[in-house]
Amino acid sequence: MTIDGKAVTAAATINAVNPATEQVVGTAPDCSREQLDQAVAAARHAFSAWSATPLNERRAVLGRMAGVLAANAATLGELLSQEQGKPLAKAQEEVLISAHWCAEVAKLPLEPDTLADTPDSLVQVHRVPIGVVGAIVPWNFPVALAFFKIAPALLAGNTMVLKPSPLTPLTALKFGELLRDALPPGVFNVVSGGDALGPWMTAHPGIDKISFTGSTATGRKVMESGAATLKRLTLELGGNDAAIVLPDVDVNAVAPLIFWGAFANSAQFCLAIKRLYIHDAVYDRLSQALAKLAGSVKLGAATEAGVELGPVQNKAQFERLKGLLADCKAQGLRLLAGGEVAQQPGYFFPVTLVDNPPESSRIVQEEPFGPILPLLRFTDIDDAVARANASPYGLGASVWTADEAQGLAIGRRLQAGTVWVNEIHTISPIKPMAGHKQSGLGVEQGEDGLLEYTLPQTVSLKRGGQASGAGA
Ligand code: NAD
Repeated sequence: MTIDGKAVTAAATINAVNPATEQVVGTAPDCSREQLDQAVAAARHAFSAWSATPLNERRAVLGRMAGVLAANAATLGELLSQEQGKPLAKAQEEVLISAHWCAEVAKLPLEPDTLADTPDSLVQVHRVPIGVVGAIVPWNFPVALAFFKIAPALLAGNTMVLKPSPLTPLTALKFGELLRDALPPGVFNVVSGGDALGPWMTAHPGIDKISFTGSTATGRKVMESGAATLKRLTLELGGNDAAIVLPDVDVNAVAPLIFWGAFANSAQFCLAIKRLYIHDAVYDRLSQALAKLAGSVKLGAATEAGVELGPVQNKAQFERLKGLLADCKAQGLRLLAGGEVAQQPGYFFPVTLVDNPPESSRIVQEEPFGPILPLLRFTDIDDAVARANASPYGLGASVWTADEAQGLAIGRRLQAGTVWVNEIHTISPIKPMAGHKQSGLGVEQGEDGLLEYTLPQTVSLKRGGQASGAGA
């Protein structure tokens, strides 16, 4: 682990398993409560100097972090692909995206707002850092989702204790090590551990804010636990994103975009298409095109040549997907692709398409977080919008049509924090991403996301040397 700029081991360890082989790929320290206290104390100590460091210097440090990540993309990518399961090229791409994030977040504005500047008064709103941020991330994008937090939190002048998922701890421990020389000691600490560590962090009196990405169920626990010390919270939670395909689409052009919108990262993607509403006029042609892609996509271990999709990341997730598949079969639902899980080592789940299941079925109502997708037929656009919105989640949504004006109009009616028209997953360091409804609390990315790591401080000056009060 990295605590106060130094390498720290723990008495106990946890194992990281390669999901393609089910073999242990490495062990990670199981952080003790005392070690967490040390990490928080180091972050608190480092806060006074780091928060007082001029903004331009912090911008430069983020630039150096980007350089370290880019220079080590091959090593970090290899480790990531082994513990996470994604194809090597995609793992390296994730590291490079994280480097890009550091470089771009470094350019975001954070100067004070001037509300009044007259001969009589100066009123400014400064954005001050919150203190120590506890960052908790999941296993689907263990590097990118960490840097979505690290970059803005540190730029704003906070210090951090980062906890990766116990299922993918290795890459985070490694980038913590690689970044030791790029940052003052204590500014960025990385701890790993089992199921006790997250709750210790959310209850820790020395942590001022929790930035959490994970499931909605865990998000509720984080909120409950943080209430005791009234922590600031950003929660990026689950989704059940709808895509709506109108009758005027060019089926051949949109099929691959929709396919990868649903199945990239083996569909372990908070913003993956998880309910695909297709107009009756194009339902058969589009479902056939998607089934053809499902049949030709190469599923395999990260290191295999030409592999496009890896296994799902862990056994619990694999079992959950098999349960959802069994439920579809028990209901007599027709499958247009996939549906047979091969008996072999590794958590390989085939791309599976479910033909028009009822809205009430589990596969429509639940977030599968794996490569099984319901295709849903509609004839009336208002009905499709109502069905898309009939979800406790509100993370992302997309509309596919040749009519841009109609696409935008329908998109604006969808209850989701991010809406795409004729594209998907074009996330960026400048586009705010907020989960509506039970998909989250607060914002990540963009200027709004950066401000989540600050508190407004209003400073009011009466000019001319005369003191005055509100009633003067
Ligand atoms: P999870 O909620 O099980 O775990 C996420 C993290 O929280 C892990 O580091 C875990 O160790 C930690 N944790 C578990 N219990 C905790 C507790 N009681 N207190 C504090 N921390 C605790 O989620 P997961 O299975 O790792 O990830 C999948 C979920 O994450 C999906 O629902 C997905 O949609 C969501 N997700 C959301 C986004 C987003 O930006 N909105 C991005 C990626 C994933």
